[in-house]
Amino acid sequence: MAYTDIQMDKKDLQTLKDIAVKAYPYEACGVLTGGEIENRIYDIVDANNTAALDLRKKSFEISALDIYRLENDGYKPIGFYHSHPDYPAVLSEEDKKHMIPDMIYIVASVKRTYVSQLKGYVRTSTDLNQICELSIQIVDKGGK
Ligand SMILES: [Zn+2]
Repeated sequence: MAYTDIQMDKKDLQTLKDIAVKAYPYEACGVLTGGEIENRIYDIVDANNTAALDLRKKSFEISALDIYRLENDGYKPIGFYHSHPDYPAVLSEEDKKHMIPDMIYIVASVKRTYVSQLKGYVRTSTDLNQICELSIQIVDKGGK
């Protein structure tokens, strides 16, 4: 399987950045939803970080019920995003452990008022070390 770049439009990019800044100093998290085109993000859906408050600066958890609700509403989850407050947009060992193969992951490094770095990743097999970086292309808003 070939791994295509992540595509998203400016509006969704801005949504993602706004969510990351708003959640600071805690980690923001949410679901990336798509459609027909592989790795093309159509919507960014904010999710509650359900990790315990004292862990929320360094980790996140998304409730399976939130994902169920999304699917029930007709969304197609194709990946997840989360932020790293005051930390680079690299995957932690904990992040890697929970990645679902073939889903896309976006990590945003956030300083107090802005996102300084955004990176995309995919896990290509169940092997913990089989993870590669995907570039993120900003595209015009197209049809679904
Ligand atoms: Zn992380």
